[in-house]
Amino acid sequence: TKDQHWEMHVTRASGGQRIVQLVDQTGNYAAERMRVDFVANASHELRTPLASILGYIETLGDDKAGEDAQVRGRFLKIMFDEARRMQRLVEDLISLSRIEAEKYRLPDRAVDLGALISEVRSELLDAQDKRSGDIVTDIDLGVPPVAGDRAQLSQVLHNLIGNAMKYGRPGSPITVKLWRDAAGTVRISVGDEGDGIAPEHLPRLTERFYRVDPGRSRAAGGTGLGLAIVKHIIERHRGRFDVTSTLGKGTTVTVMLPAHVQTYQAKTASTSDP
Ligand code: ADP
Repeated sequence: TKDQHWEMHVTRASGGQRIVQLVDQTGNYAAERMRVDFVANASHELRTPLASILGYIETLGDDKAGEDAQVRGRFLKIMFDEARRMQRLVEDLISLSRIEAEKYRLPDRAVDLGALISEVRSELLDAQDKRSGDIVTDIDLGVPPVAGDRAQLSQVLHNLIGNAMKYGRPGSPITVKLWRDAAGTVRISVGDEGDGIAPEHLPRLTERFYRVDPGRSRAAGGTGLGLAIVKHIIERHRGRFDVTSTLGKGTTVTVMLPAHVQTYQAKTASTSDP
C-alpha cells in the first residue's frame, strides 16, 4: 500500500538460482520522513524571524527611517523580539539534541521534587508579566526524592507551568500538585483554567512543532517544542505523562515518575554526591 515500503534484494547463488529477499523498510522510511520534516520545520521557523530582522536592518539603513528616533526605537524593539524568538528556538533545539544523546543513560541523582517545584515557581513568578495569576502549590512533604536529572526535571516544570501561564485565562490561578499514588508512583500535576484543548489534538501535542493555534503560540513566545522536550525527558526518567482537558474549562497535565528510592540510595551510598 501507499504507506508501506518494501525493498527487494535479488542475489544469485552459486548454483545459478536467484534468491529474492523482501525487506520491510516501513519503519525506517517513517523515521527518515520525520527527520526530513523536522529539519524543514526548524529551518522555516528560523527563516521567518531572520527575514524580518534583515528587512528592518535594511529599512534602518535607508536615511529617512533611520533618522527618526521614534521609528528607530520601534524597529529595534521588533528586531530584539525576533532575535529573542530565534534564541528560544535554538535553545530548545539544543535541549532536544542533548536529551536525545543521553537517552540511554538513566538519571540517578536524588531530586527533591517539592523543593524543585518551589524553586521553579519563584523563577516563573519573578519573570512573569502582569497578566498571569498566582501559582498555587499543594505539595505532599512525605514524597520521597526521585532518581532524576535535576536540570531536566526543572525544564519539565518550566515548560508545563509556562504553558499553563501562556494558555490559561489571564489572571486565573495555576495549580501544581505533588503526591504519591497508591501504587507508589510519584505524580506531579499542573492544572490551568484556560480554553482547554479539543480531544482530536491531544494525541499530537508532543509532536515537534505541533500547535493547536500557531498564531497564539507564537504571540505567547512558544517554540512548538516544549511538550516534545517534556516527553523526551520523562521517557528518559522511565516515566509517563498524560494530558486531560475540557474545552472552555482548562487543562491538567500529570507527570508520573517511578520512585526509584532503592536505586538511588544504593548509588549515593557508594558515590559522594557533589
Ligand atoms: P508551544 O511552544 O507552542 O507552547 P508546546 O509543545 O509546549 O509548544 O505545546 C504544543 C501546543 O499544545 C501549544 O501550541 C498549544 O496549542 C497546546 N497546549 C500546550 N499546553 C497547553 C495548555 N496548558 N492549555 C492549552 N493548550 C496547550
